[in-house]
Amino acid sequence: MKVVIAQMKHETNTFSPVPTPLARFAGDAALPLQGADAYQAYKGTGTAIGAFIELAEEAGAQIVLPVAASAWPSGPVEDAAFEHIVKRIVDAVADGCDAVLLDLHGAMVTRTYEDGEGELLRRLRAIAPEVPIGVALDMHTNLFPAMVDHATVLAGYQTYPHIDMFETGLRAGRAVFAMLAGRARPVMAWGNRPMLPHVMRQGSDDSPNRELQARCKEMELQGALCASVFVGFPNADVSQAGLSALVVTDGDETRARRWCDELLDMAWAARAGFAYEPEPLAASLARAQALRATLADDAGPVVLLDHSDNCASGGTMDTMTVLGAILDAGLQDVAAFAICDPGAVQRMMHAGIGAEIQLALGGKLDMPALDLGGQPRGVKGRVRLLCDGHYRNRGPMARGEHNHMGPTAVLDTGKAEIVVVSRQVEPHDLAAFQAVGIDPASKRFLMLKSRVHWRAGLRALAGAVVECAGTGVCTSDYAALRFTRLRRPMYPLDPL
Ligand SMILES: [Zn+2]
Repeated sequence: MKVVIAQMKHETNTFSPVPTPLARFAGDAALPLQGADAYQAYKGTGTAIGAFIELAEEAGAQIVLPVAASAWPSGPVEDAAFEHIVKRIVDAVADGCDAVLLDLHGAMVTRTYEDGEGELLRRLRAIAPEVPIGVALDMHTNLFPAMVDHATVLAGYQTYPHIDMFETGLRAGRAVFAMLAGRARPVMAWGNRPMLPHVMRQGSDDSPNRELQARCKEMELQGALCASVFVGFPNADVSQAGLSALVVTDGDETRARRWCDELLDMAWAARAGFAYEPEPLAASLARAQALRATLADDAGPVVLLDHSDNCASGGTMDTMTVLGAILDAGLQDVAAFAICDPGAVQRMMHAGIGAEIQLALGGKLDMPALDLGGQPRGVKGRVRLLCDGHYRNRGPMARGEHNHMGPTAVLDTGKAEIVVVSRQVEPHDLAAFQAVGIDPASKRFLMLKSRVHWRAGLRALAGAVVECAGTGVCTSDYAALRFTRLRRPMYPLDPL
């Protein structure tokens, strides 16, 4: 038995000015990982592709791994990047195989296609009409009809932060191997509702997503092969952005339809719980200081979430609104992770450890989709640390996966330690802090450019959490986003 396993992951923020060429999928190499290198990078990791490798080896299958391409969220994917990745997968399948297992995101927008995954699957189905195709998807999938039409089994993460990537790979993969063994005949039903759940309200520990995901798990215990609610990715101006559901059963189309509709009705009834009203920044910082005063010294930091500039939602990671307000307010004993400013890192490297330096930090990228120019901020401090920015995730999210912040520096202002990176990386893992010699648990305040994923590795150490509305292309204010392709009406943008 021969199985083609591949990864093509990108969550596209169509409002983001951060470019997405092939190099963004390639890390330090010239091209994305392939073959033995991809196998080595993902074998044994807590990822969907890691699960596919494990299942295929259990089945004694020959594995062909044409490409493992994953990039941090950013603007639309360049056509050349998309075509490179897709060609590698299509060529591998064209050589013949018994099954295809794909680790996809489900919200890839390219310069040409608003549904990158659907286009990949369409091309695969055209050359392999009978081959089972199993796909693991992110919970932030914006599900398009073509993805369902041209795949055999789709399964989405059931946690946010995404700590079940591996389990999702197992769910999708097992259904495909059961089919190959003649033990299952997967059928799918899917649908959506005109609602755009806010990312700040999508955490799977919070209602209403907690109840939706619990019902998915219950359906799987009751016989569904895979049950998924995709909360969708709202910072994408595409026709199918928003919430959807998909249920796979063993040959029972009626049951799949009924369960899918039940999930969609549950979500629609709970739609008000997915809406989010940002608090003015000054009020948030005043609240943070008041909270700090009530906490014991060893209670852990007050976490300040700069949620408008989360790079895992396509943020530039260089807006200075929240950090600037923190510096202006004179908060003491702060760690900030992170500002992406490769030029500032180079200046600090040139100055050397211990040097006092004045920087125009951040604000290098304009955000034309929001009619905003980049605004650097003058910051003075001492270069405390320089490093290469490599680390490996400890988990629980994407355990074992390699991360690379690029050349990295820590600037110490006396009151704040500011991590400055050269590549966007969301702080969801303690290893990111260990790489820069900061113990976040010992800080009074911890500013994170994150929305929900930080909870995966850092929630246990937080004394309190305050959401801070800054500036950025993952703004939490839907009114700042100009939607032109999104289907309407859409809750909560329109009265429904
Ligand atoms: Zn996601």
